[in-house]
Parts: sequence; C-alpha cells; structure tokens
Amino acid sequence: MDFDLMKRQGDVAGNTLLVIGGIQGDEPGGFNAAALLATRYRIDKGTLWIVPNLNFASIIQRSRGIHGDLNRKFDFLPPADPEYHLVKEIKEIITNPQVDLVLNLHDGSGFYRADYIDSQHNPKRWGQSCIIDQSLLAGVPFGALEEIGQKVVRETNRKLDNPAHRFSLKNTQTRAEDQVMQQTLTFFAIENNKPAFGIEASKNFRTNVRVYYHLQFLEAYMQELGISFRRDFELSPQGVEQALKQDIRVALNDHKIQLDISDIREQLNYIPLKKGSKLEFESDNPLVAVLPYRNKYRIHYGNNRLGFLRPQYFEYDDSLASVLVTVDGLSKEFKMGSIVPVAENFLVDIPDGYRVNIIGFTRKGVRNERGFRVHKKDIMPGYSIDKGGQVFRVEVYRNDKFAGMLLMDFRAVQHRTKLLALHQAEQ
Ligand SMILES: [Zn+2]
Repeated sequence: MDFDLMKRQGDVAGNTLLVIGGIQGDEPGGFNAAALLATRYRIDKGTLWIVPNLNFASIIQRSRGIHGDLNRKFDFLPPADPEYHLVKEIKEIITNPQVDLVLNLHDGSGFYRADYIDSQHNPKRWGQSCIIDQSLLAGVPFGALEEIGQKVVRETNRKLDNPAHRFSLKNTQTRAEDQVMQQTLTFFAIENNKPAFGIEASKNFRTNVRVYYHLQFLEAYMQELGISFRRDFELSPQGVEQALKQDIRVALNDHKIQLDISDIREQLNYIPLKKGSKLEFESDNPLVAVLPYRNKYRIHYGNNRLGFLRPQYFEYDDSLASVLVTVDGLSKEFKMGSIVPVAENFLVDIPDGYRVNIIGFTRKGVRNERGFRVHKKDIMPGYSIDKGGQVFRVEVYRNDKFAGMLLMDFRAVQHRTKLLALHQAEQ
C-alpha cells in the first residue's frame, strides 16, 4: 500500500509542480482530482510530479488516518511510528531541488470566511479556501505566496458553478500563531524553502464538485508556473463525474485477466485465480486496489467499494500469449487480458488442445466454444461482468489449467478510442 509518484514531463522543459492528494484518507475531492490529473492530462511544457494517494491504506479504509492524522507528523516523528518511512519518503520528494511549488489537496468542512456569518461560514471553517502559512517566502521563485494565492483564487472564482461557492485566501500565520499547523506538510515545505499551498474544497459538496474546484485550482497553478497541458474531458461538474467513472481497469496475475471495473457487478463468481499464490493486481489508476476479504477479494476504487470477486482456483498455463479473434469480420491477435471492443459479433479461434469457454453462452453438447460466431443476443446478459449487460468473459483453458481471459466489450467505443489516442501520443 505504498503511495505512487507519477511523473508527467512535457517535451519542452519548464517548472515542476508537485501535487499531493490523499494525505487524509476521507477527502475524496483532493485525491480524485490528483488521480485525474495523473491519468487524463497530457503535459506539453514543464513537469508535474503527482502523488495522488499519499495515505493509500487510509483511502482504502475510508479513514482520515488509520494511524492518526498524517498531516500532523511533519515536525517531529518517532522512528517507531508506523508512518515514519512514508513521511521520510514524501519529505525527500518535497525537498527535491527540481520541485518549484507544492500543492496539498484537501476537502474541508463548510466555508471559510474571514468574518463570522453563520455556523457553516466563518473563520473556523476550512472549505473553499486556499491556504498559506505566511505571506512571503523570501528569496525563492514563487515565494510571493499571498500574491499568487490571491491570483489563483481570483481565477477560480471566475469559474464558480454557483456564486455561493466562492473561495477565499486563508493565511494561518503558522510560524507565529499556530503550533498545530507547524506539524503539517505545507509548513515543512515552507521551512525547507519550498513555496507551498493547501487547497480545500468544501465537504458540503458531492465529490465531483469538489474535484471540479480542485482541478480549476490545479489548472490556475499550472498556468502560473508556465506548465502547458491538455486534458481529454470537459472541465465541468458533469464532465468530472463522467471522467471519474470511465475506463477504470485492473489487471490480475500478470495480465492474464483484466477487468473494466467502471460498472462492475457487486459480485463476479468463478474468477479463475492462481492456486497457491497471492493475488497480484496492477492498475493505471492509482486509487484502485484488490484486496482479500474473507474468502473473496474486494475491489476498491478510492473510498468506493465496487464489488467482490469470488475465486475458483486453478493451476495456470503460460503456453498461449495471445488469441486469434475475428471481430466484426476482421481477424486479429489479442493478448491475454485484452478488452476487445465489439460492434456486432466475434469468433474466437485457438489451436487444438485448448478450450474456449464464453461465459453465458451455451450450445447443446458443445464443450469447446471455439469457432462460433457469437452475437450479444447469444449470451445471457446476467453473465456480463458489468451491470449494463454488455461486457463478457472469454476464458481459455488447456486441460484443467487456466491460460487466460479476454473481455468482449459491446459498449460504445467512442471515449475509449479517444483515450487510446491520448495514451499512444504519450508514449
Ligand atoms: Zn485535509
């Protein structure tokens, strides 16, 4: 459950922005924004370093901090603390000479206002604020904290979804007045001559609205640092909501199995996992984990618990790396673990000695389902991996050993094609 450091470098050199999400595990606006920044933006100039899941174990547990508040451990911390090494590692990243500016993303309660208005809008609240520890960090680029903070707040306030959501700059005057805040990540950064800001979206909003505001801030800071970028979704609360649900995948056991978990059923049965070994998972999305839960596995995506896998254990066979599939009349080799977009029909071909099992498809008296042209209507929708009844498992076996799985995906392919183009451009 280590955190990820995801580096996104443009072709043209420039400043480096470090973005940290998930220091507290129950603030999904911040860590989802950081994850979208890492997965759905492309940088043309300058560099992003993104740690989207600093306190990953707490994110998965939906806890502010399973070992206490991680954002109070940046002053003194005894080596016996379970998060000692985590803190040490992130401190090294923060103080790396390449880092020009640090952002720590939070979700805070209510609405910060300099004057008391009511219980939700007052100086003690944190939501909808940009936080600085002091006005000025002398002698370093971007050290004009107050000036920069005012500017990005102004930028973001031009893009409010509702005028009541406006942001304010909050100066905690940490050095002089706030001993608690002296233990925080941003104050550690300041003490090490790194300009740092906290961004707090209000917990009064749904996650997509919080993420929307975080991304507005992130884009304003990138502009301030001269980092140029592209994103592949519309920046609006609706656009963010969609982006958070799209194309979330996890690969299991060396990519023999890959699942699109965006719309996954609450439980998938008879998932062929490897006998006698620990489940390995891998995802492009830094908020995804697959962890044992009683006699099953649970799929986590940030604070969300998407569903369970109920395993059936097999020996694995590694002799077949890919499978020939004819999709809508065109034949192509697909690696094990592929998710294959299909418009009309597919036909799976494999060498003798292997057996195909299309889950939810049956022909009387047939055990090996290779060589059948299969339409969606030929498969019982209840066997899809998604709630929408559109994505189906094709499993390949050799004798009693599992050789790999493919998914046949009958959903609209438009957004996937777009994404693919973006990822290819990055490589
Ligand atoms: Zn927080």
